[in-house]
Amino acid sequence: MLNITDLHFRYSKRSPAVLDGVELTLRGGEIGVVLGKNGSGKTTLFKIILGIQKPERGSILFDGEDLLKMSRRERARRIAYVPQSIHFGALSVFDTVLMGRVAYFGYKAGRADEEAVERILRDMRLEDFAARNVEELSGGERQKIAIARALAQEPRLLVFDEPTGNLDLANEQLILSEARRLAREKGIGILTSLHDFNQALELGDRFFFLHNGKIQYEGGAEIVTQAVIREVFDAEVRIVEIEGRKIIVNGGQKP
Ligand code: ADP
Repeated sequence: MLNITDLHFRYSKRSPAVLDGVELTLRGGEIGVVLGKNGSGKTTLFKIILGIQKPERGSILFDGEDLLKMSRRERARRIAYVPQSIHFGALSVFDTVLMGRVAYFGYKAGRADEEAVERILRDMRLEDFAARNVEELSGGERQKIAIARALAQEPRLLVFDEPTGNLDLANEQLILSEARRLAREKGIGILTSLHDFNQALELGDRFFFLHNGKIQYEGGAEIVTQAVIREVFDAEVRIVEIEGRKIIVNGGQKP
């Protein structure tokens, strides 16, 4: 679905390259987690995929089509972004989600757009919220509305930047399980950054370690190892197994 090759980017001519030959492939319905230190370029990579920044060179194909040549509207029908926190303004939940349809309706929403919103709210069990003002909702509920709004674009790929960053444990779980459901039941691909390794392991199918401007390691959960984390994050962790699940804990012996 998403095929990135030899992607290079710098913020200005004289600043160092943030992305220096990124290669990344994500298949349809897969959940990919980008892992990297603060400042390693995760957000920058997402901004390029979303068309907010232009790369110096490289290519991004989406189902074989050149994403870098698409109009905003064409891209919006394929890829939607769920930001970490949004300030929606004092709109109802229904109208907020309807805004996600803008790539379809242009100036004025029609009955089909309203039906699409009704369907999404029903599907995400948000019908009871439809008339509520978004500003009155909790952080987790707002994050769910942000996902609903992104879904209104009917995307094939959802890009999340640290989706659980501001949430408490219960809401974190709510958002992770919603993301998993969308990938499994709807076949929507997900590309996300997460700073918590355990959330990453819980959610991801594939892992991409971004380091020195490149994806240094890529693969399934088996590539998330002590040695890789040491190299990429400069941190010592221990990996234990509990009930068949790999759990990453702080600490561990210095080599
Ligand atoms: P991450 O999301 O992994 O924390 P970012 O993509 O935000 O990393 O940042 C990558 C690098 O680019 C950092 O060194 C950061 O300081 C720099 N950077 C980010 N945004 C800008 C900007 N608008 N102008 C100049 N440099 C930026």
